[in-house]
Amino acid sequence: MTGISTDLIHSSESKYIDVTPPINITTTYKYSDDPEKLVKAVDRTGPDYFHNDNWTYSRLTHQNSELIENLLESLLEGKVVVYNSGLAAFNAALTHINPKTVIIGQAYHGCHAILEIWKRNFDLKVLDINVLENFEKLQPGDLVHLETPVNPLGTSFDIEFYAKKAHEKGALLMVDATFAPPPLQRPFNHGADLIMHSATKYFGGHSDLLAGLLVTKDEEVRQKLFYDRLLLGTNIGNLESSLLVRSLKTYELRILRQSDNCTKLVAFLNSNKDKFPNLKEVFHSSLQSDEYIKTQLSGHSPTFSITLQSEDLAKRFPSKLKYFYHATSLGGVESLIEWRAISDTTVDPALLRVSVGVENIEDLIDDFTQALTS
Ligand SMILES: *Cc1c(COP(=O)(O)O)cnc(C)c1O
Repeated sequence: MTGISTDLIHSSESKYIDVTPPINITTTYKYSDDPEKLVKAVDRTGPDYFHNDNWTYSRLTHQNSELIENLLESLLEGKVVVYNSGLAAFNAALTHINPKTVIIGQAYHGCHAILEIWKRNFDLKVLDINVLENFEKLQPGDLVHLETPVNPLGTSFDIEFYAKKAHEKGALLMVDATFAPPPLQRPFNHGADLIMHSATKYFGGHSDLLAGLLVTKDEEVRQKLFYDRLLLGTNIGNLESSLLVRSLKTYELRILRQSDNCTKLVAFLNSNKDKFPNLKEVFHSSLQSDEYIKTQLSGHSPTFSITLQSEDLAKRFPSKLKYFYHATSLGGVESLIEWRAISDTTVDPALLRVSVGVENIEDLIDDFTQALTS
């Protein structure tokens, strides 16, 4: 087994002499010049025909979308299907599984909004994960969706517990692992059936591309997801896929540094609460004492949240910071902070979500210190 960075830089041999795989923007590809090699649509063996040099049309698959799927297989320990956003990946999972009931708790607001569309169009039932009796209502083929670590707090749930609850009823567990991609967390080891990521966040890492991923252990599932994707038109765009291939080369460096920076900043804030009277609470998995934290996380999410003593303080806080852009999203090399009430109707208006980047930790700690004491 080679290491993560070695894999992501070298594992997919390129057909080109370019050290960086070429940006490839074609939507359509020439068929073979050799008439003997032309295959009628009725004679194709299945959607996989389109891979491996039989590129035809970029909505189906293209050089760099395929490269991403190959590069990530080893890191994500499964078959990978790449999408044009995290939400496209979530909707693809629903489309494939086609559950009658979904159990979900706190999760990305867009996932809840997609479930509202499914309720409207297909009479899907959506039940609260925090009500344990709801698991009794699951039927085989239903879905439990667990986001962990969860947005916006960065706190974690017990994957094994929910996997068991889902499997007892023949339902599937999907984990949205966007906040702690590997090597921080490996949901398949704890019973997840399907993993989704918004690759816009840590895999992209530069706040310059949208992408999503689904990961499955099952080759048949991968083929079905791929076929749905080519019809629904949700493959990653050509330019974005080139940006993502670029990003993966530094992925391990970034995720480890960001996780380390975040855990240090959280520890600093939490242990100096008495010096910062405006700071009310700090939320992050590194502050949880639950037993499963030790076995299910080998590092913590680079995103955490704090609450201040009032809504007004929270609204003004981002403008006092020098190294944290006041912006939504997370996962990039640059640190961000968001007064979360701007984009989420359900959160405490005194809450701030912090996405920690790769800057020097001393500078980030100094910046928080001056902003909390000014
Ligand atoms: C951002 C995010 C999504 C949605 O991903 P997009 O790439 O923005 O579509 C889903 N889940 C979580 C946890 C996220 O942070």
